[in-house]
Amino acid sequence: MSTSSATLREWDNQFVWHPFTPMLAYRDEGAPIIESADGFFLIDVEGRRYLDGISSLWCNVHGHRVPEIDRAIREQLDRVSHTTLLGLSSVPSIELARALVARAPRGLTKVFYSDSGATSVEVALKIAYQYHTQKTGGADGTRRDRFLCLGSAYHGDTLGTVSVGNIAQFHAAYRDLLFQTVMVPAPVAFRTPAGYTPAAYLEHCFAELERLIVENRDRAAGFIIEPLVQGAAGMLVHPPGYLARVRALTREHGIPLIADEVAVGFGRTGTLFACEQENVSPDLLCTAKGLTGGYLPLAATLATDEIYNAFLAAPHEGKTFFHGHTYTGNALACAAALASLQLLDDNRVLDNVRANAQRIAERLTAIQTSPFVGEIRQKGTMVGIELVRDRKTAEPFPAALRLGHQVTLAARMRGVIIRPLGDVIVLMPAPAMPGELVDRLCDVAIKAIEEATAAL
Ligand SMILES: *Cc1c(COP(=O)(O)O)cnc(C)c1O
Repeated sequence: MSTSSATLREWDNQFVWHPFTPMLAYRDEGAPIIESADGFFLIDVEGRRYLDGISSLWCNVHGHRVPEIDRAIREQLDRVSHTTLLGLSSVPSIELARALVARAPRGLTKVFYSDSGATSVEVALKIAYQYHTQKTGGADGTRRDRFLCLGSAYHGDTLGTVSVGNIAQFHAAYRDLLFQTVMVPAPVAFRTPAGYTPAAYLEHCFAELERLIVENRDRAAGFIIEPLVQGAAGMLVHPPGYLARVRALTREHGIPLIADEVAVGFGRTGTLFACEQENVSPDLLCTAKGLTGGYLPLAATLATDEIYNAFLAAPHEGKTFFHGHTYTGNALACAAALASLQLLDDNRVLDNVRANAQRIAERLTAIQTSPFVGEIRQKGTMVGIELVRDRKTAEPFPAALRLGHQVTLAARMRGVIIRPLGDVIVLMPAPAMPGELVDRLCDVAIKAIEEATAAL
């Protein structure tokens, strides 16, 4: 017999501590308890259907219960669910590594598996640091222990990834536990600092980028960036040419470039990897969220031969990369990822993303001039609608109002699941979502914004 929804809710409040969730408020809210899914819809224990408007936190690609992925997992289940990759190999992890290298930006030839976005970034940071030590053997007397990262960056919630993050609300509490980094201002001109025009501020950001790279070139272990879009910061879209400029400067000064494609990878910006749009090949590339189509936890950090080769030595020399997680390269997850990559090709999902991106842009013109919409930011099907008290000054609403959250609740009443970043309403339809559903997502978001702001 199944547990009643009332009992589940009681147990949820009693036993579950939800991530990124103010639990005091959550317990009174009666959030949907999801029991099943059907394509792009989630179904809760009361039988209500919700359109999944944020790809189940930015990871779902083809919808839920996709026959091809379900089948791939079941077939793998009949062979083996998990075995270790520590000194041993497995069939799907080999096949997936090959498939990823074939699709990745030029020069990325080695795949190091882990299990989440944060671990894929931790891996990249540790590899970049160890690479330099082992390449030079310390012989040149340089110490490379500084990472350059962007303002408002988000790379995960472990302490290493928090160290290269710059979102005060998430990261300030842990300041004393973190390693030092060099922060390069994010090249974004919404809320331009006093004394600058937007254009002058962008110019300043490009100049700072160069200055900080040159200043730290002997100390920098790597430069980490979310290519094109800084997701968790509120879908901040970089100006064209910025990523290419970062690549040119890091290359010129011999600093490894780490592209964190955890959010932007696997189609969301209209290309498989965001780096492709500026013809950039990073030295390390982190992927996770969409890798398995949003089915299972799996991450991959891709590296160049140049980096990988610095770890090749006789075992007793100690140049091994001593890092691994128990579930690294899980076989079920690799099987899901292989099926997902196949579907991206077979269903021409990237074309769908580009078509949907256009639909969204057209649809959202309806609220472009609304008094409470400060800015609509969009790259591909990644969308952030920033709500402000005053359009002209970009003055925010008081945090206690939780306006973004109110919009979420209004959307939920209309059968759509979204989740904001503060007062930025995030829309992130799965790359394969049909256009009509994307239209519905936009329409409900607009209605929910109107409803939540009507009384203000
Ligand atoms: C979500 C995210 C991460 C962290 O991924 P997890 O799987 O949640 O650990 C890292 N980088 C970026 C850019 C992300 O959006």
